Amino acid sequence: MATTLADEPRQDFGAHGGATHDVTNQPPPLTPYDASEDTALLEGLRREGGGWAEGELRRVGRLAGSAQVQEWSDQANRHEPELRTHDRYGNRVDEVEFHPSWHHLMGAAVAEGLAAAPWADDRPGAHVVRTAKGLVWGHTEAGHGCPTSMTYAAVPALRRQPELAEVYEPGLTSREYEPGLRVPAGKRGLLAGMGMTEKQGGSDVRTNTTSAAPTAEPGVYTLRGHKWFTSAPMCDVFLVLAQAPGGLSCFLVPRVLPDGTRNTFRVQRLKDKLGNRSNASSEPEFDGTVAWLVGPEGQGVKTIIEMVNCTRLDCVMMSAALMRKTLVEAGHHARHRSAFGARLVDQPLMRNVLADLALESEAATTLTLRLAGAADRAVRGDAGEAAFRRIATAVGKYWVTKRGPAFTAEALECLGGNGYVEDSGMPRHYREAPLLSIWEGSGNVNALDVLRALGRDPATAQALFEELALTRGADARLDAAVAGLEDQLAEGSQAGARRLVERMALTLQGSLLVRHAPSAVADAFCATRLGGDWGHSFGTLPAAAGLDAIVGRALPDAG
Ligand SMILES: Cc1cc2nc3c(=O)[nH]c(=O)nc-3n(C[C@H](O)[C@H](O)[C@H](O)COP(=O)(O)OP(=O)(O)OC[C@H]3O[C@@H](n4cnc5c(N)ncnc54)[C@H](O)[C@@H]3O)c2cc1C
Repeated sequence: MATTLADEPRQDFGAHGGATHDVTNQPPPLTPYDASEDTALLEGLRREGGGWAEGELRRVGRLAGSAQVQEWSDQANRHEPELRTHDRYGNRVDEVEFHPSWHHLMGAAVAEGLAAAPWADDRPGAHVVRTAKGLVWGHTEAGHGCPTSMTYAAVPALRRQPELAEVYEPGLTSREYEPGLRVPAGKRGLLAGMGMTEKQGGSDVRTNTTSAAPTAEPGVYTLRGHKWFTSAPMCDVFLVLAQAPGGLSCFLVPRVLPDGTRNTFRVQRLKDKLGNRSNASSEPEFDGTVAWLVGPEGQGVKTIIEMVNCTRLDCVMMSAALMRKTLVEAGHHARHRSAFGARLVDQPLMRNVLADLALESEAATTLTLRLAGAADRAVRGDAGEAAFRRIATAVGKYWVTKRGPAFTAEALECLGGNGYVEDSGMPRHYREAPLLSIWEGSGNVNALDVLRALGRDPATAQALFEELALTRGADARLDAAVAGLEDQLAEGSQAGARRLVERMALTLQGSLLVRHAPSAVADAFCATRLGGDWGHSFGTLPAAAGLDAIVGRALPDAG
C-alpha cells in the first residue's frame, strides 16, 4: 500500500526548533566605527598643511562610521531617484525626487565643507582638509559625491567670469544645503553640475553640436541641443559647453531664471547605471535655454578644464576612499571569522592578502593627499606646485582609479560569500569603482593627457623629476625606476602611453612612501611594484615582506 507524507513518523525537534538558526562565527556589525582612524591619512593631512583641522576630521570620521549614516548610505542606493517629467495636467516639471536619506547625506556633506566651502576659506591647507574629509566621508556613499564634487569644481571655472562668480559663489561656497528649484540668488546654498558629454562624443567635446545663439543682451545666449550625460539634474546651475559663433564656449545655465520662471531644461530620462545608483544621471535637452557666457567665446575647453582639474582629483580621492573602506571591512571580517581552526586574519595567506591591499591603499591615500597639497599651493600661486599638479593629477587619476575595481573585488572576496551579498555593502562599492576611471576622462584619455602635458609644458616633467629626486639614493629599486622613466619619456608614443603613465604613477607612489611611510611599507612597495617581485593578483607579497608590520599599521586591531 502506498504511504503518504501524513503517514510518515514525525521527527520531534522538541523545544529547540530554533537551534537550526544559531548564529556563530559571523562578525559583529562594524558600526559604529571611526572612519578617520587611518594613520596614513592623518600623517598625510598634517604633512600637506591641514593639521589644523584634525579635530574636524575626527568628527567627520565618527559621523561617517555611525550606524545612522551607514544606514542612510544603504537606503539612498536601494531607493533610487525617480524622474517626474510632467505634472498631472501635462505641464513639464523635469524634477527628480530623492529618498530622504539622500538629502540627509547631502546636508551633512555640504555642512562639513565637502562642496565648495574651501574657496571661501583663506587658510593654507583648506583644500587639503576638504580632500582628507572626502577620504573619510567616502566611507559612506559615493553617489552624492558627484554633486558635491561638481559644486567644488565649478568655482575656479566660474571665476573666469567675475561678475557671475560674484552672484553665484556665495551660494556655492555655503555650508547650507537647500534643495529645490528656486531663484539661485535667493537661496542659502547652491549646487552646480556640468554638461559636456553628448551622444556623438564625450572625450572629444569638439564634436559638441549644442548651439549657442547670442541675444541682444551682452553675454547672454540661448542654447539648443542635447547632452547625453548630465548628472545631478536637480543642481541649481550647470556649466555647459556649446558652439557659439566664436567656437566651443562655456556657459552657465541656471535651472530657474532670475525672474523666477523655469529655464528650459528637459530631462528626457535617467540612466539605468551599473552602480552610482543613488545619483541621478540624466539626458537633458535645451531649446531656447537661457545661458550666460563664462570666459571668452571659443575658449570653452580652456574654461571648463579648470573644473575638470578639480573633479579629477576627486576621482582619485573617491577611489582611495573606496579602497580604504573596503579594506576596513575586509580586516573587520578577517578578525572575527575563523576557518580551519584559526581567525582568518591569523592565517598567513590571508595576512598576505590584507598586507598587499594595505600597501595599495596607503599608496593611494598618500598620493591623493600629495595631489591635494599641490592643488592647495597651486591656487595660492605656487608655480612649481601648479606644474606638478598638472601632470601628477592626470597620472594619479589614471592609475588609482584603474586599481579600484581589482582592489574592491579582492577586498570583497575576503568576506567570502558574505561579500557577494548586498547586505554587506561590498557589491555597492565594487559597482562604484569602475565609474571613477570613466568619467572626467577615461583611462586612455587621461594617459594621453599626460603626454599632452609633457609635450606642451616641459615644466611639468621638471616638477615631477624634482619631486622624484628627493629620494635619490634611498632605494636602489626606486632609483632604477626613475632612471627607466627618464628613458621611457623620450619615446612618448600614444600606443605606449598607459605603460609610461603606469610607471610614472608607481614611481611617484614609491617615492612618496620611501619619504613618508615606515620602512616595512616602503620596502614591500618598492620590492613588488617597482622591483617586480610580485605576482599578478593581490596577496603575492614576497615571504620576506613585513606582513605583520604592514597589517598592524593599516588595521591596528588586526595587528
Ligand atoms: C555615471 C556617469 C555620469 C556622468 N556624468 C556626467 C556629467 O555630469 N556631465 C558630463 O558632461 N558627462 C558625464 N558623464 C560622461 C563621461 O564623462 C563620459 O562618458 C566620458 O568622458 C567618456 O566619454 P564617452 O562616453 O563619450 O566615451 P568615448 O569618448 O567615446 O570613449 C570611449 C572609449 O574610447 C577611449 N578613447 C577616447 N579617445 C581616445 C583616443 N584618442 N585614443 C584612445 N582611446 C580613446 C576612451 O578612453 C574610452 O575608453 C558621465 C558618465 C557616467 C558613466
